[in-house]
Amino acid sequence: MTKVNPNFGKKLKKFGAETAYHCYHCGNCTVVCPLSTDEEQFPRRFMRYVQLGMEDKIKHSLEPWLCYYCGDCQTACPRQANPGEVMMSLRRYLTTVYDWTGLSRKLYTSMAWKVVSVGLLFFATLAVVYGFSGEMVTDRVELETFAPAHIVHPVGYVFGAVLSFFLLSNVYRMFRFILGDYAKSVPLSVYVEELRTLVVHFFTQARMRLCTNKSRWLKHWLLMTGYFVAFMLVNIDVVTRWSLTNEPPMWWHPAKLLWTYASIAMIYVTTEAIIGRLRKREPMHQYSHSTDWMFLILLWFTVFTGLLMRIFMELGLPLPTYHTFALHLAFTVPLLGLEVPFTKWSHLAYRPFALYFARIKERAVQLQQRQGPESEMAA
Ligand code: SF4
Ligand code: SF4
Repeated sequence: MTKVNPNFGKKLKKFGAETAYHCYHCGNCTVVCPLSTDEEQFPRRFMRYVQLGMEDKIKHSLEPWLCYYCGDCQTACPRQANPGEVMMSLRRYLTTVYDWTGLSRKLYTSMAWKVVSVGLLFFATLAVVYGFSGEMVTDRVELETFAPAHIVHPVGYVFGAVLSFFLLSNVYRMFRFILGDYAKSVPLSVYVEELRTLVVHFFTQARMRLCTNKSRWLKHWLLMTGYFVAFMLVNIDVVTRWSLTNEPPMWWHPAKLLWTYASIAMIYVTTEAIIGRLRKREPMHQYSHSTDWMFLILLWFTVFTGLLMRIFMELGLPLPTYHTFALHLAFTVPLLGLEVPFTKWSHLAYRPFALYFARIKERAVQLQQRQGPESEMAA
């Protein structure tokens, strides 16, 4: 039996959805949605669920993750019910459902929690950097002397391990919510075979290419690859020693070229998104939740301070290099610490995992259908 929460619509407003009750179910949005299928229909069905307070049903649904917020449904809606924004709000809500710590809910629903959490991590990082940094050599740039690699790298790995633990434990909860009893009915080999779905969608965001606005896919892909390349470069720095060093490599060093690509891709897409949200011309930019701004601002300043630090380094300016490096870390820590496991950036994992779980569910249903007639025949 499906439980109903009559206050669900009110609850969802904190996540951004203000207009779900405008919907009168003409169905235009589902017809124009390039990503809705016969098996996974949205967004109209979810407008209904919200109106009826079917919270339980929503908690176990994966469709909100199949929407890429292209905005086509917003334009087609005669009631300004903003179905794309309602789907976006459902993703925010689901992120809090999967998160077992409760921090995600606080960050999504309270401005005070956002400001205090970001502020605390920002200033705590500055205190640690200046408290434990090495000597500030002023006659030439010696970044490794200021930020010794044998301290920065292990701290970075521990930080990454903690974040991965929170994110993966939340992904596991997502798996339980979405697959439920289906989880046990498929053999392990199916989970292994379908891993390709996870990998392909993580790296290509292929479904987004079905959206009418193709440039969105390209921008999203640039951002994703920029982030992935930067992430990999930071992780292999312990081997390549191209970043935290007192002898900066030449401009043609492969790691440096890749890093330049990552920085330019991320700063371009983030700046474009900030301008889009300020102008509010495109449907997907018309409504911004405070967490959208938190993400964009933290990401923009993280990339900008990283770029600036490299420029100061190339120009041979020691003190500006050290101080922008400290600022870069102070923006990076709240960006990764709050966004990756608890808020907006967690979709980087939840989207491909939703597609992976969708395939597992499909295979489970196929297996059940095959086993049905077989067991009847045996009887
Ligand atoms: S187009 Fe608008 S009114 Fe029609 S079903 Fe979709 S959300 Fe509801
Ligand atoms: S925003 Fe795009 S993908 Fe999402 S429901 Fe609307 S039309 Fe479909």
